[in-house]
Amino acid sequence: MIRIAKNKACTVTEAEVFVLRAPLSSPFRIATGQHDFLENVFLRLHLSDGIAGCGEAAVATHITGETVPQTVISLKKVAAKLLGCDISTPLVTGMEFRSYFRGNHAGLAAFEMALLDAYSRSQGMPFWRLFTPQTAPDQPVLKTDVTIVLGSLEEAAEATQRYAGRGFQTFKVKLGRDEELDFRRVLEIRRLAPEVEIVLDANQAFTAEGALRFVKRLVEAGVHPALVEQPVPKKDWDGLKQVTRSLGEMGILVCADESVGSLEEAAHAVRTGSVSAINIKFMKSGILESVEIARLARSAGVQLMIGAMMESALSITAAAHFAGALGCFSFIDIDTTYFIQGELACSPCLDGGGRFDLSGTGPGIGVQFAAG
Ligand SMILES: [Mg+2]
Repeated sequence: MIRIAKNKACTVTEAEVFVLRAPLSSPFRIATGQHDFLENVFLRLHLSDGIAGCGEAAVATHITGETVPQTVISLKKVAAKLLGCDISTPLVTGMEFRSYFRGNHAGLAAFEMALLDAYSRSQGMPFWRLFTPQTAPDQPVLKTDVTIVLGSLEEAAEATQRYAGRGFQTFKVKLGRDEELDFRRVLEIRRLAPEVEIVLDANQAFTAEGALRFVKRLVEAGVHPALVEQPVPKKDWDGLKQVTRSLGEMGILVCADESVGSLEEAAHAVRTGSVSAINIKFMKSGILESVEIARLARSAGVQLMIGAMMESALSITAAAHFAGALGCFSFIDIDTTYFIQGELACSPCLDGGGRFDLSGTGPGIGVQFAAG
């Protein structure tokens, strides 16, 4: 699936690991915790032909348990070993170093992103060309949803009006700390933005019965969500299956996020019929395994969402290239730059209304930051 052309040798001459921080415009609150600022680890690979490629690890300690110091250590170890390496066969290089990132999938994502960004830049081709044999991505234009984080009724109303005014068409509503307030928040969002598609994300907060009760109550009140993400704890496969079956009868998809972080877990989800959609994130499974998860899910008729942790413009633009090229993602959830302040929020491919346009991208991912 990954496209590899015959190419000139490109040797790594320098490998930098650095941490960048950025303030958020508002805390990113979900059921299991919150981000108050962005603090991500970056890997930049300089090649003998003068090209440099960059990758990002967005460490979400409250979700994955990974930490920034652990990610810095694993990336530095690999950075030292990459010096003098020829990366003109990036799949081989990717396989070779994969084992250094056991238990540190954000680090793996940064490594693979830097490798593939550097490689595609050295070949003079956009990042998306790695994932499609075609001359243009299936989806050169993608529209991301926007997240309404946990908060008060007033905060939900203010965010809804602001984002609806900017042209967002899908709202992903975080749930999970206060069921009654969540119910009122969703109704308020529907009232203020009657045309938008609503997706719910409980981040594991419900039992199967509780999730079904909540969604049925919403439907009775006139709100029909398109999808419910991770309603139950990640290891509650029976609960997930129960919710998927019941909501499936109402035409509502159920999506695994925390439950599926690897190809093995995706295979389990598909084999057991536990979900009708899977949220793929580079930070859970790296980039190369994400290709395999996408292929597996689509072969079984399972829908796909592309998602992100608290990632900067570099990483979400890479995800847009990936999803656009594969062309099989029904849900696009790569909106984190709208919560970040400063340079790390800027992608030349993304406008203020959630629209990624990949049609005019140059070599690589197309986003570069100065080291910290
Ligand atoms: Mg989620």
